[in-house]
Amino acid sequence: MKLLRYLKHHVLIAIAILAYLLVAMLAPAQILPALKTSGKYLLEMMLVMPVVFMLTMLIEVWISRDGILKYLGEGSGLKGAGLAVALGSLSAGPIYAAFPICRILLSKGLSVANLVIILSAWAVIKVPMLAMEIRFLGPAFMALRWALTVTAIILMGFAIGWLVKRREIPVEEDAGKREAAVIIDQGRCTACGLCVRAAPEWFAKGSDSVQVTPERMARGLTEAERAPLARLCPFGAIG
Ligand code: SF4
Repeated sequence: MKLLRYLKHHVLIAIAILAYLLVAMLAPAQILPALKTSGKYLLEMMLVMPVVFMLTMLIEVWISRDGILKYLGEGSGLKGAGLAVALGSLSAGPIYAAFPICRILLSKGLSVANLVIILSAWAVIKVPMLAMEIRFLGPAFMALRWALTVTAIILMGFAIGWLVKRREIPVEEDAGKREAAVIIDQGRCTACGLCVRAAPEWFAKGSDSVQVTPERMARGLTEAERAPLARLCPFGAIG
C-alpha cells in the first residue's frame, strides 16, 4: 500500500517501472542493456547533482533577490537577455543540472524570458563546445551559427515571456518568507497609468514606463495582498 501511494505521487517513476516491466516481458534480451544504460546515467547524475545542489545553496545565500530582479527580472530587457545568454553559455555540465539552478533563480525574481534564454543557451551554445566547433568546422561557420542561434534564443525567450507569466510556473517565491513581490511585466505594460492612479504608493510613472515604487520594490507580500494589485491592470502586466 505504501509503495502504491509512493508511485501515485511519483508518476514518472511509476511510468519508468512500467516501461521496464514491459521490456522484460516483450523483449527479455534487452532488459540487461536497458538496466546498464540507466545505471550509467544514474551514476552520472549522482556525480553531478551534489555539486549542483551546493551551487543552488550558494545562490540562495549569496545572491540577493534585488540583484536578480534588477539584472535578470521583468523589465531587464536586452541587457538582462545578454546576461542570461552569458550565464547559460559559461555554464558547465549537462542540461538537467540547469533546472534546479534556474528554479532557485526564478524564486528570486528571474523573468520567464531570461529563464528560457539561460536554459536554451545552456543547451546549445556552451563556450567549450564553441572551441570544438571552430576546430572542426571553422571560425566563420561557428560565428554565423552562434549569431543566428543567440538571436533565435532571445526572440524565443521574449515570446515565451509574453505568453507565460511567472506566477503560472509552480515555484515557491523566495523573499525568505515565501512571499511574492509585485513585478510589472514591461512587455505587457502600456504605461496607461491606471495602476498609478489607483495605488500611487505602489506604482510610479517614469518618462516612458511605469515601475513599482523603490520603497515597495523589494518588499514581499502575501498572495492575498498581491492579487488585488494584479487586478488593477487590464493588460495583465502586474504579477
Ligand atoms: S495598469 Fe497595467 S498597463 Fe497600465 S500602467 Fe499599470 S501596469 Fe502598465
